[in-house]
Amino acid sequence: MSQYLDAKYAALQPYTPGEQPRDADYTKLNTNESPFAPSPKVQLAVASEVACLNRYPDPAAHELRESFATYYGVETDCVFFGNGSDEILAFCFQALCPQGAAFADITYGFYPVYCALYGVQHTLVPLREDFSLVPEDYYGMGRTIFIANPNAPTGLALSRRQVEDILQNNAGSLVIMDEAYVDFGGESAVPLLTKYNNLLVVGTFSKSRALAGGRLGYAMGSKELIEDLNRVRFSFNPYNLSRTTLAAGTAAIRDEAYHDKCCRSIVQTRAETARALEKMGFECTDSHANFLFCSHETMPAQELYTLLKERRVLVRWFDQPRIQNWLRVTIGTKEEMDKFFFELRKILRETKD
Ligand code: PMP
Repeated sequence: MSQYLDAKYAALQPYTPGEQPRDADYTKLNTNESPFAPSPKVQLAVASEVACLNRYPDPAAHELRESFATYYGVETDCVFFGNGSDEILAFCFQALCPQGAAFADITYGFYPVYCALYGVQHTLVPLREDFSLVPEDYYGMGRTIFIANPNAPTGLALSRRQVEDILQNNAGSLVIMDEAYVDFGGESAVPLLTKYNNLLVVGTFSKSRALAGGRLGYAMGSKELIEDLNRVRFSFNPYNLSRTTLAAGTAAIRDEAYHDKCCRSIVQTRAETARALEKMGFECTDSHANFLFCSHETMPAQELYTLLKERRVLVRWFDQPRIQNWLRVTIGTKEEMDKFFFELRKILRETKD
């Protein structure tokens, strides 16, 4: 730490992203990326945009906004984009939590980090014993509510009806639904936007649209909420999205067939993976995301994580209360899952003797 750091940042505990090994021979099942390359149309669009990189990008993202709004059936002025959904969530914590924030005790680990960064008071609402989120626990919160749906790392999802229940019982508070994983079987809250102006839906191109490296997130909400987000963005960095990211996003949203094919494949592999894990003595939550959350009947999760890593398979283990005996395993290609099972079987066999 230098002598120049403002003392108010000295105690910050930054978010720890999943490992990103430089070494390509790892089977990477630890950061919930798509195992598939972006659509070939995205690759072409990005390649042709490179020649224009001498010019600043469109700060209003007109083309992407039009295509995106058409896809979701919303007005163009109800849409916002950010440098990953992380940037949008940061804006939300910074500017949309005047009464503080509330979120689950087990959820996306960045929420408490943003609270610390922006000095936002927060209430942790414990998930039930089985990791379920119960809408009643959020009634009349009087704070901005953040809910990852499906939740991470549990994969459990709320129905649209349950989300509506939370909205109805928080009429005076903003409810932010983080739908990073919704395309893998969740029920989006987007259809509720016309009915509830206390709803903001946040999502990402990082997972189902295979653009984690492109850094593109979105938000949908009332025109006024989008204006608020733009007020913050234009006070910070109007060029938060590069030309190549805008081109990639536009091509990705237009290639519906590719998106659907990738999502179907992940959902099918998830079901096969869960069945195989259960046969091997794992308990899995009912994940609606592109990962499974599982716990073995005898083998401690931390040990499994370490032994898998030694064998060049990366999964995610969280050193956090309540979930220390659980692993989050991203769904990869069938070949990647074969490698995972090959090593996992060996580990379980070897440690039994
Ligand atoms: N929300 C949740 C629940 C996530 O798991 C993630 C990714 N780890 C994000 C938001 C952020 O994704 P990105 O910044 O890549 O859009």
